[in-house]
Amino acid sequence: MKPRRKRPTVTREAAEDAVRTLLQWAGEDPAREGLLDTPKRVVDAYGDWFSGYLVDPAAYLRRTFEEVAGYDEMIVLRDIEFESYCEHHMAPIIGRAHIGYLPTDKVVGISKLARVVDGFARRFQVQEKLTAQIAHCIEDVLKPRGVGVVIDAVHQCMTTRGVHKRGVSMVTSQMLGDFREDARTRAEFLRFVDSRRA
Ligand SMILES: [Zn+2]
Repeated sequence: MKPRRKRPTVTREAAEDAVRTLLQWAGEDPAREGLLDTPKRVVDAYGDWFSGYLVDPAAYLRRTFEEVAGYDEMIVLRDIEFESYCEHHMAPIIGRAHIGYLPTDKVVGISKLARVVDGFARRFQVQEKLTAQIAHCIEDVLKPRGVGVVIDAVHQCMTTRGVHKRGVSMVTSQMLGDFREDARTRAEFLRFVDSRRA
């Protein structure tokens, strides 16, 4: 069901050594008692944070339901929380994704859309690419009449370093099919997405 991919050929030992190097570079002594197990923990955490490289998000969408009694209106899943990592600074991007689509004859279980978000988020990313990948994956597999994806996220590379601007979030959207071509469809989706904030 979920094709698992393999990690490339960097050994765990080499990855832990790289963490030791960064600790040393920062001014630490990696042999200090409190840091002894840190490389191991960091590599374990990386396994979790970057588990997206081990999955094919499209595989989550291949199991669909067709018995929906002719339902052909918009389906929206909003406030899907995610954590990702910016590929420029390897710093967290924390945000929410909102997804809408207009089904043709098949729909997916709603948890599957959240899994698609995680499958792409748990990689090194830029928000624009993450937004586009989610939308195109849904379009390619479900072949809906349209897809909309809106992502609202905070980039810690901006809030904790560099310009140090807190409270700034970035919003990106990717609209495909009817969501792109039909202003009413797009407006309906954005109304669903915004309705809690009003
Ligand atoms: Zn960054």
